[in-house]
Amino acid sequence: MTFIDSHSHLILKEFDNDRDNVIQQALSNGITHIVQSCDNLDEIEKNLILTKKYGNLYSSVGIHPHEAKLWTDVSYDTIIKYTKEEKVIAIGETGLDFYYNHSPQDIQLKVFREQIKIANEASLPLIIHTRDAFKETIKILKEEKIKHGGVFHCYTGDLDIAKEALKLGFYISWSGIITFKKAFDLREVAKNIPLKNTLIETDCPFLTPLPHRGERNEPKYVKYVAEELAKIHNVSVDKVGEITSENTKILFGIK
Ligand SMILES: [Zn+2]
Repeated sequence: MTFIDSHSHLILKEFDNDRDNVIQQALSNGITHIVQSCDNLDEIEKNLILTKKYGNLYSSVGIHPHEAKLWTDVSYDTIIKYTKEEKVIAIGETGLDFYYNHSPQDIQLKVFREQIKIANEASLPLIIHTRDAFKETIKILKEEKIKHGGVFHCYTGDLDIAKEALKLGFYISWSGIITFKKAFDLREVAKNIPLKNTLIETDCPFLTPLPHRGERNEPKYVKYVAEELAKIHNVSVDKVGEITSENTKILFGIK
């Protein structure tokens, strides 16, 4: 059985004591590739060091909606420069988070639009983080004429929005949340999204799936997300791993 963790944050301090061990453990437990997400432009250098050390690691480059206030006049050009790096395969994570509002909404909107423009200019897919702003997110993607699709990471929206996302060429990515006991509605949405439009992720160190909820999350636990999807779609875990891995490779252009 093999899987790809399509969204992780292995450079965060939670992994400072055992990062290499966590990655080795993942690679020896059937995780063939890991896509590192980038939250701000300080992180990208650290991500690049990690992706150069491990052939199967890739990274996005971008600014998280929480950190949109860090955007400056040079951010656009800086991100464009990093897109030329071989291991950089997406723009993000970007989007809108109107739940926490760690950055003012008008700034989040501007920085999201800028990063869609970058994705279009660099011919890369977009990694989207969105919370309490699903309609606005779809509206802006349409207005900015997103060209190369992407993924709604750690999806928690409803079926209508998910269908809109698919129409725009996006995949839906499921995290450990779908294993949570109370996530009935989300599992119902997942049931209605074909596996051919689906990715899986950990978003580690956050959102640890059952049965490890409460512990630090890590890439090897992505198999629990796959197991839940296998139950939902009534197929083998192997099949879920196979299809979602293929989808991730197609989306991010990785081998
Ligand atoms: Zn993330």
